Amino acid sequence: MPPTRRDFLATSAALTLGALLGRPLHALSSRSAQAAFTPIRRNVGTFTMRGGTVGWLVNARGVAVVDTQFPAEARALLAGLQERSRGRGVDVLLNTHHHGDHTGGNGVFRGVARRVVAHSMADQHMRRAPQPARQAQPAQQPPAQPASPQQQTQPPPPEPLYPDTTFTHSWSTEVGDERIVARHHGRGHTSGDAVITFERANVVHMGDLAFHRRHPVVDRAAGASMRNWARILEEVVSAHGPDTIYIFGHAGEGLPVTGTSADLLRFRDYLRAVLAFVERHVAAGRSRDEILAMRAPLAGFEAWGPFGQAGPRDPVSAAHEEVTTGA
Ligand SMILES: [Zn+2]
Repeated sequence: MPPTRRDFLATSAALTLGALLGRPLHALSSRSAQAAFTPIRRNVGTFTMRGGTVGWLVNARGVAVVDTQFPAEARALLAGLQERSRGRGVDVLLNTHHHGDHTGGNGVFRGVARRVVAHSMADQHMRRAPQPARQAQPAQQPPAQPASPQQQTQPPPPEPLYPDTTFTHSWSTEVGDERIVARHHGRGHTSGDAVITFERANVVHMGDLAFHRRHPVVDRAAGASMRNWARILEEVVSAHGPDTIYIFGHAGEGLPVTGTSADLLRFRDYLRAVLAFVERHVAAGRSRDEILAMRAPLAGFEAWGPFGQAGPRDPVSAAHEEVTTGA
């Protein structure tokens, strides 16, 4: 459905809500400062504000949402969805994986989402992971410092909302005239990633299995595998047609959050190039830190820029662990 006047009004409502939430602009990257609902095709679209890209479906009979960013962003998301659906609840909330920038707003959907679905490993990671700290003064403890004016305008963080439905290989449902399928392809960005296909719209939410032209987060502690991740991208591309539109969990500054199979295959090439680069330097006797200290961008992937600092989830450290442990 093409955007209607109603869509634009809903976007304005969400923007107004975003403004009322009162977060200073300097706390946000310029690209994600404002809530934006962007229709893609056949009642499916994206929502961007801060955190992993959200996917949504609002059709004549139902509402679905994929990921929830953080609490304040989730409130803007929910306001926009309710505007578009004339106040209907959410039939299903799906999480692509457990990370807080994708699930931190789940609690806002308590009592609104009839089902919450995720891969079984994502569910386990979620229940283990500390909740995102952005607004996290525990409700039962007084703040150590007087609250800033900004904190005073924020409602308390909602209780986390965990999946009530989990799957290991795949899960599907009908929402109105759309069929939604969630599939797990093995270890990738984490051990609990789901690829979520809106079959009739032919739109696929990749979660963080797709970072568009920026260095990815690779969560080895949660079971990531760059080798398998590259294979997953091929598997997903070959399971879908040439007209499929893919939603990326994250994109480089100023770049679109949706794209084509060519973008996914380019990212596959990047993952394999990082592994090959690290493998070569390990074979030459260099340490992980020496490899990370090389500031030149990866050959063929200059637009990505140099690698960042060493960290528990940077791609060079992850590739180094994968290359040196073989796991
Ligand atoms: Zn992630």
